[in-house]
Amino acid sequence: MANWNRLYDELEQLKEEGRYRPLTVWESGAASTMTLGGRELIQLSSNNYLGLAGHPALREAAIAATEKYGVGSGSVRTIAGTLDIHVILEEELAAFKGTEAALVFQSGFTANQGVIASLVGAEDVVISDELNHASIIDGIRLTKAARKIYAHKDMEQLEQALKESAGYRNRYVITDGVFSMDGDIAPLPAIVELAEKYDAFVYVDDAHSSGVLGKNGKGTTDHFGLHGRVHIQIGTLSKAVGAVGGYVACDAVVKDYLIHKARPFLFSTSQTPAVAATALAAIGLLRESGTLIEMLWDNAAYFRGKVQALGFDTGASETPIIPVIVGSPSESMAFSDALLQEGVFAQGIVFPTVAYDKGRVRFIVTAQHTREQLDLVLGALERAGRKLGLLP
Ligand code: PMP
Repeated sequence: MANWNRLYDELEQLKEEGRYRPLTVWESGAASTMTLGGRELIQLSSNNYLGLAGHPALREAAIAATEKYGVGSGSVRTIAGTLDIHVILEEELAAFKGTEAALVFQSGFTANQGVIASLVGAEDVVISDELNHASIIDGIRLTKAARKIYAHKDMEQLEQALKESAGYRNRYVITDGVFSMDGDIAPLPAIVELAEKYDAFVYVDDAHSSGVLGKNGKGTTDHFGLHGRVHIQIGTLSKAVGAVGGYVACDAVVKDYLIHKARPFLFSTSQTPAVAATALAAIGLLRESGTLIEMLWDNAAYFRGKVQALGFDTGASETPIIPVIVGSPSESMAFSDALLQEGVFAQGIVFPTVAYDKGRVRFIVTAQHTREQLDLVLGALERAGRKLGLLP
């Protein structure tokens, strides 16, 4: 018998700290309500921002692509795995984002990891917001570059880091567009100005802004009118776009370089035909109509306003990601559990993902939620808040 004692010990430790999480297993697909243990719950933890994951046009696209090409691509992109729909998807993404080119990866995670690790070399420096996503952190870890972390959205610290970076070959400033735990937006105009002053590249991860921010969901760069001044835009096809995958929107030479250097691109089989076709159909839907995005933002403003009116602290939220900050890990999990009893699923997020006393329940509002559902959630929030003494 293998001796896994160390693993048992570490898992026990997680249990003692209240950080052990069995997987929640859903019995229905991503939607505004989902079935768990035979109960239909209002879902407020899914990144299915526009409800596209179950959209009839996307289902049809997936089925048609599967009929035409089969279920797998059979190879990495650089050998026999580049299908015409992969290329069409990349052309559409580049046109959508207003960049010369786009390159698709199997996930947003591998896009960040692969792009950072191949672009940034030992002679360079990376300057990164402290709250950037794990895939950015891992990408940076894979480089031999110097690294500097600035306090969340602190432009003075960013400027200081840039000043100290004159000696490096290239400087890269990397930020999330929308931060996933707080739902706040990066100060991209200020970042771009500083980067231009100190001759740095700007790299934005638009995972939570793709399909959410900017005209037709084109992302943070479009939202702030910074076209041509942001050098690398990462997007995901896994959240608002409703499928799975990631991409980089960039100059053609960057794409060409990544095709030859980015290891997740080179050494991992390409997206399934169904996924590529689904993403393509979703980009078509985004281009056609801003209505879904308007519904998303209306719902977010409505819900955030009402939550604040109840007396809860929603932190810095300014997007459909709306945390309710309650305090310790145990308070946060108790709040999430109380909501579950009321038929509402909203994930508790605790230390070390967020500061110990900033534990929270994170709500993600989507375009698909009806006002009736949001009102039910607000009622549950009020009752659970009073029961736990979080509200007077
Ligand atoms: N970046 C950010 C900011 C994210 O929140 C996520 C998803 N958790 C990713 C990248 C990874 O995207 P994907 O799920 O497509 O791998």
